[in-house]
Amino acid sequence: MVILGGGYAGMTIARFLEKRADKIGWEIVLINRDNFFLFTPMLGEVATGSIETRHIINPIRQLCRRIRFEEREVLDINTRKKVVKVRQEATGREEGVAYDKLIIALGSTTNFFNIPGLNENAITMKGLGDAIYVRNHIISLFEQADTEKYPQIQAPLVTFVVVGGGFAGVELAGELNDFAHYLRKFYPFINGSLIRVVLLEAASRLLLEVGEDLAGFALQTLKEKGMEVRLSARVKEARPDRVILEGGEEILTRTLIWTAGVVPQPVVSALPFQKDKRGRILVNEYFQSLDDPDIWVAGDCSSLTDPRTGQPYPPTAQHALRQGKRAARNILAEITAGKKKPFRYQMLGQMAMLGRRSGVAIVLGFRVKGFWAWWLWRTYYLFRLPRLAKKLRVMLDWTIDLFFERDIAQLKPYHHRPGAQADFN
Ligand SMILES: Cc1cc2nc3c(=O)[nH]c(=O)nc-3n(C[C@H](O)[C@H](O)[C@H](O)COP(=O)(O)OP(=O)(O)OC[C@H]3O[C@@H](n4cnc5c(N)ncnc54)[C@H](O)[C@@H]3O)c2cc1C
Repeated sequence: MVILGGGYAGMTIARFLEKRADKIGWEIVLINRDNFFLFTPMLGEVATGSIETRHIINPIRQLCRRIRFEEREVLDINTRKKVVKVRQEATGREEGVAYDKLIIALGSTTNFFNIPGLNENAITMKGLGDAIYVRNHIISLFEQADTEKYPQIQAPLVTFVVVGGGFAGVELAGELNDFAHYLRKFYPFINGSLIRVVLLEAASRLLLEVGEDLAGFALQTLKEKGMEVRLSARVKEARPDRVILEGGEEILTRTLIWTAGVVPQPVVSALPFQKDKRGRILVNEYFQSLDDPDIWVAGDCSSLTDPRTGQPYPPTAQHALRQGKRAARNILAEITAGKKKPFRYQMLGQMAMLGRRSGVAIVLGFRVKGFWAWWLWRTYYLFRLPRLAKKLRVMLDWTIDLFFERDIAQLKPYHHRPGAQADFN
């Protein structure tokens, strides 16, 4: 049995099945491009330095000790021959991994909607590398801006544009705004009034997932924090030094962070399976692909209609986790001749953080906003972060962040070459 993807759905399935490995009697292999599980809700805090990079990741080998793990890039799935083509990063070697049963949980990737210049100029916020890059990039721009005399040169360096008014965009923009204004005090030659954080959303409101009152509160809070929030604003083109909106307005900036939309990974898109209009694989209520019952699909890359809403379940960690649990139980049921059960899940709530000490949340139908929503967010996600050691580290990061100055060192990931001048001069 081969599991592709070590995210929320894939890890949940792997951890459930490994505990029953004796009962199942199958060899189970988990393949992922990184050797860790990434806790995405805290990625924005890593990007702005309130949480240390490694504290939100967990090595897969420490989470799943009884199945075989392989760190590889999945290149292609041949469903006719039942072989997955993979590549090893270090050597570039490609080979085939044969399967009897395949579980696809490869998540999603950023959707640029074919907008000119986005692929080349936008920064994505999907992986750990993105968060590391964003933090270094922002600090680097502040360093440069501090050496510039003229406001017209400084301004684009300290203008940050985030696109996407969903959870990921709103949370990141809130964090980034706090971080940028915090950085200001260490850079005396930057004119503080030039610092801009602009959040662009194509729809007429933020956070379509929550009610209008909470979305309105989020908008008001972000504006009170000094952010520019532009609704019904669509990006037409991105260039290295500017973002051009439909209607012709140009925002001069060196930073465009794109969080507006996801699509399945190319390897999933290439499968000759029935898909929904967003390219996600259609599955039955047990998470088997409609085209091949030996292939199970869960998480962001699967599409199953919620009978309550008539819409596909949304691509969130909350759903990927529950889908993983149900898919794993159904796989076990099929192997042990048990009874499979259909997936039913109603969201318990949703939360978004709006920078320091503010947030919005709907929990069990109750609407919470402000400090308590922020507190709920932190408590809930801390509880969900795997492994006690990581929970303690994040708790410590948050505590230190309350009482001490944030670290603004820029880490340049240079490789030291013997004989060359040291890179960290
Ligand atoms: C910044 C950010 C914040 C978010 N915040 C929230 C939140 O607060 N609440 C919430 O519910 N959801 C949130 N989400 C969404 C949530 O992270 C996803 O819905 C969830 O991760 C989907 O789980 P998954 O298992 O389907 O995919 P993933 O968790 O993405 O796992 C897929 C795995 O497959 C691997 N992979 C992909 N392609 C390949 C390949 N070709 N070869 C090898 N490995 C591959 C990936 O590296 C990854 O490990 C957030 C997402 C982001 C990016």
